Amino acid sequence: MLQIQKQVSLRHFNTLALPSIAENFCKISSKNALCEALEWAKKHQLPITILGGGSNVVLARDLAGLVLHMAIPGVELVSEQQDHRIINIGAGENWHQLVLHTLDQGWYGLENLSLIPGLVGAAPIQNIGAYGVELSERFLSLEAIHIATGELRLMDSSDCQFGYRDSFFKGKGRDQYVITSIRLQLSIQSNLCVEYPALQQVLMDDMGQSQDVSPKQVSDAVCAIRQSKLPDPSDIPNAGSFFKNPVVGPEQVAVLRKKYPDIVGYGQSDGSMKLAAGWLIEQAGWKGVTRNGVGVHANQALVLVNYDGSGEALLSLASDIQASVLEKFGLKMEVEPRIYR
Ligand code: FAD
Ligand code: NAP
Repeated sequence: MLQIQKQVSLRHFNTLALPSIAENFCKISSKNALCEALEWAKKHQLPITILGGGSNVVLARDLAGLVLHMAIPGVELVSEQQDHRIINIGAGENWHQLVLHTLDQGWYGLENLSLIPGLVGAAPIQNIGAYGVELSERFLSLEAIHIATGELRLMDSSDCQFGYRDSFFKGKGRDQYVITSIRLQLSIQSNLCVEYPALQQVLMDDMGQSQDVSPKQVSDAVCAIRQSKLPDPSDIPNAGSFFKNPVVGPEQVAVLRKKYPDIVGYGQSDGSMKLAAGWLIEQAGWKGVTRNGVGVHANQALVLVNYDGSGEALLSLASDIQASVLEKFGLKMEVEPRIYR
C-alpha cells in the first residue's frame, strides 16, 4: 500500500543539509509502487520531484507536490560471457556499495568511481565521472518510467546522450522520467585507468608503482585521496563540485595561457581544453572564504559548503564566484548540481 507522508523535513535527505520541506513524501521500493505513486500525483495534479541520495541537489525552497525517494533494491547478474559480466541494478542501491560489491565479485571497471555519494538511479543523470572514468564507459541500458504516461522505456547509451557530466536527463528529458534500474557491462580482467596525477602519486607512495596493481588497490587509493581532500558531507554539508570544469577551444586557451601561464587545463580528444574550475576559483581569491554561514572549502575550491546558512546564501555565493571568474578570465562556469529555488 502506498504510504504518503505529509510535511516531511528533507534536511537529512540532502547532503547540503538544507532545511527544505516536502509537501508529500513517498519512499519507492518497487516499480509497482512507483506507478501507483505517479497515478496518485496525477489524480491530485501534483508535480513530482525525484530524490536519490540528495548529493547533487540544492534544495533552496520547500518542495510542493510529491517527492519520490528512490529505494528500489537489487543487484542481479544477468549474463556471464567469456570476458565480461552484465549486471542489472535497482535505482535505490547505494552507488559506493555497488562498487565494493562488484570488486568483491571480481567484476572490474568501477574502481575509479569509488566513494561517489548517492544512489544508482542518479548515476546516469550527470553521467557520473571521476579519475578519468565515466559511467557511460560501463553503461549498457536503463529502464525508466515516463512520468506523464506511466510507460516503461528501455534506453540505451545513444538514447541517454551522455556528455561530460551531462545526459539527456539534464536536457530534453529533464523531469520526464524516473529511472528504475540500470544495466552495466563489467570486465573480469582488470584494465586499469591510473593516469590521474593524484592517483598515480598515491599508488607510487603506497605500492612503489602504479601499473601492476589490482582494481581493489585502485579503489582503495581513490577512497584515500577522496577522504583526504574532500569534506565528508556528514561532517561539513556539501554537494561535491559546485561547478563543471569549463571546456574551451584552442584559440581561447592560447589567449589565456599568455596571460596566465600557470593555468591548469587538460587537452581533450577533439582539440578542446578542459580547464580546472577549482584553480580558476582559487585564483579569483575565493578559496576558504566564508560568509553568511556558507563558504568555499579550504582544501578544494570547487566545493561549496554549508555550515549553518541557507540555500539562498549558498546560491548568492555561487553567483558571485561565477561573476568574478567571468570578469577575471572571461570564462562562464556552469553550476553542476540541480537547483530547486
Ligand atoms: P540526487 O542528488 O538525489 O539527485 C540528483 C538529480 O537526479 C536530481 O535532479 C534528481 O531529481 C535526479 N534523480 C535522482 N534519482 C533519479 C532517478 N532514479 N530517476 C530520475 N531522476 C533521478 N559526482 C560525480 O560525477 N563525480 C564525483 O566524483 C562526485 N563526487 C562527489 C563527492 C561529494 C562529497 C558529493 C557530495 C557529491 C559528489 N558527486 C560526484 C555528485 C553526486 O554524488 C552524483 O551526481 C550522484 O550521482 C548523485 O546521486 P544522488 O542519488 O545523491 O542524486
Ligand atoms: P584533481 O585530481 O585535483 O584534478 C583537478 C581537475 O583537473 C579535475 O576536475 C579533473 O577533471 C582535472 N584533471 C586532473 N587530472 C586530469 C587528467 N589527467 N586528465 C584530465 N583531467 C584531469 O581533482 P579532485 O577535485 O581531487 O577530484 C578528483 C576526481 O573526482 C575528479 O575526476 C573529479 O571530477 C571527481 N570529483 C567530482 C565531484 C563532483 O561532485 N562532480 C566531487 C569530487 C570529486 P574532471 O573533474 O573532469 O575529472
